Amino acid sequence: MSNYKIETKCIQSGYEPQNGEPRVLPIYQSTTFKYSTSDQMGRLFDLEDSGYFYTRLQNPTNDAVAAKICDLEGGVAAMLTSSGQAANFYAIMNIAEKGDHIVCASALYGGTYNLFAHTIKKMGVDATFVDPDCSEEELNAVFQENTKAVFGESIANPALVVLDFEKFAEAAHAHGVPFIVDNTFATPINCRPFEWGVDIITHSTTKYMDGHATCVGGAIVDSGNFDWEAHAEKFPGLTTPDETYHGIIYTQKFGKGAYITKATSQLMRDLGSIQSPQNAFLLNLGLETLHLRMPRHCENALTVAKYLQSHEKVAWVNYPGLEGDKYYDLAQKYMPNGTCGVLTFGLKGGRDASVKMMDSLKMVAIVTHVADARSCVLHPASHTHRQMNEQELIEAGVQPDLIRFSVGLENAEDIIADVRQALEQV
Ligand SMILES: *Cc1c(COP(=O)(O)O)cnc(C)c1O
Repeated sequence: MSNYKIETKCIQSGYEPQNGEPRVLPIYQSTTFKYSTSDQMGRLFDLEDSGYFYTRLQNPTNDAVAAKICDLEGGVAAMLTSSGQAANFYAIMNIAEKGDHIVCASALYGGTYNLFAHTIKKMGVDATFVDPDCSEEELNAVFQENTKAVFGESIANPALVVLDFEKFAEAAHAHGVPFIVDNTFATPINCRPFEWGVDIITHSTTKYMDGHATCVGGAIVDSGNFDWEAHAEKFPGLTTPDETYHGIIYTQKFGKGAYITKATSQLMRDLGSIQSPQNAFLLNLGLETLHLRMPRHCENALTVAKYLQSHEKVAWVNYPGLEGDKYYDLAQKYMPNGTCGVLTFGLKGGRDASVKMMDSLKMVAIVTHVADARSCVLHPASHTHRQMNEQELIEAGVQPDLIRFSVGLENAEDIIADVRQALEQV
């Protein structure tokens, strides 16, 4: 599969039916799988054989879709999760535990910020947030003896900061830890983080991958490039015996598959955040057109960004695909074919004008979502980032007047007509 171009992978990867089998990936709507002998089943529990036995651990529909996402990102192993939140949680907790520390770029999705700043902190894992535009010296200064990972978003939601992959990868590797990137907004169509030193990729498949706002889901993909054994003392969970599996050592037994196998066989076994096979089936339908949808999202977003920029009532527009944007150069380097369909802007009248404009939109809806076929808006300061104080908002790159606009796949002229009439109401 891996030699095909990415457009072909969107359609063909992950599922290869044999003679007489369904042409379309079936939904294996079964919690369990049948074996003839007790010994066959026992070997699965010892991780001696690979095979299906219970859908919480593995399911053929999910595995096919995970394999497709793995191929799209150019990884060696992948897993689906019930949500993007679960993907980011597992990605960290697979290698960090009580007493450990992670380094994060501060421009993050609100849910991820809460997860890292508060929830995993209660579990004993501390996070230090750094300005994504910090200098190398500032970045290197935040590492600690117990740092286990570096985390960032390829295009931050909603700050639209494009991450300087090479700067973060270099710092992570100089300190012997993997670099994890949430590639939700750019998608593998527009950005290939593994080619820039990223070790592990996470996704909220809820967004462009599904693309139709039908299912919440997530994914984790491992490049297989991080050498856990070279830093064995930092990652005992991967490099020393797992007593819950009769003392197997993940790196020795599974090589490049160690990280994902551990996440599946420990975290998924114990925490259980699986994606339902039904949702994986729908996600797969979305993936089949990802390569067609992303360019149109980007084209429409650029058209809307230019329109807003030229409007007298608009104070500012952020869109990394827009020439002159603070992140335009980084976007050109890391995602030259396009960024995403999301842009942000603020009005000269400030927070109140922004709310009035949003309330005046007719086709473009106010919803807590981004990155699906239908255009929508959200006011992060009153919605997704509502729990943050002013200082935290600014650190996360969210100005109080910021409107997040997820530009859909409608005709751009219709989107602009709606925006125009709403701005007239302000
Ligand atoms: C939405 C989102 C998440 C969380 O994903 P869910 O599927 O909603 O749990 C994580 N990261 C980014 C960048 C997101 O946009």
